[in-house]
Amino acid sequence: MADDCLFCKIISGDIPSNKVYEDDDVYAFHDINPAAPTHILIIPKKHLNDITVAKEEDAELIGKLVLRANKIADKADLTENGFRYVINTGLDGGQTVFHIHLHLLGGKSMSWPPG
Ligand code: 5GP
Ligand code: ZN
Repeated sequence: MADDCLFCKIISGDIPSNKVYEDDDVYAFHDINPAAPTHILIIPKKHLNDITVAKEEDAELIGKLVLRANKIADKADLTENGFRYVINTGLDGGQTVFHIHLHLLGGKSMSWPPG
């Protein structure tokens, strides 16, 4: 738990969220400003500013984040048509909340490359 971290406050329930999934290590909730018909954020409960500060000891946690996201995508019926995972990182990456989050975007056909 980091002071003044929006997503830590969402995990603790201090800030409400539309929860999709929770276990001991992972929390998932709907993005407040969806960029696709399905837009879910999957986050580790451990506060890490961004993916670059993840260490070897976080390998299992990062793996779990993706595996849980796969299950969430499946439950949202996105597996067959596909979807997109995004981890915005730092200034050029467009990161605005500095607690690692995996975006799950789906429900429409998406273009590439991003702007
Ligand atoms: P980033 O730009 O850092 O990759 O993504 C941050 C995401 O968090 C954005 O898509 C934004 O809409 C979402 N977001 C920001 N504040 C809140 C909030 O209070 N609640 C929820 N559910 N999502 C938020
Ligand atoms: Zn945090």
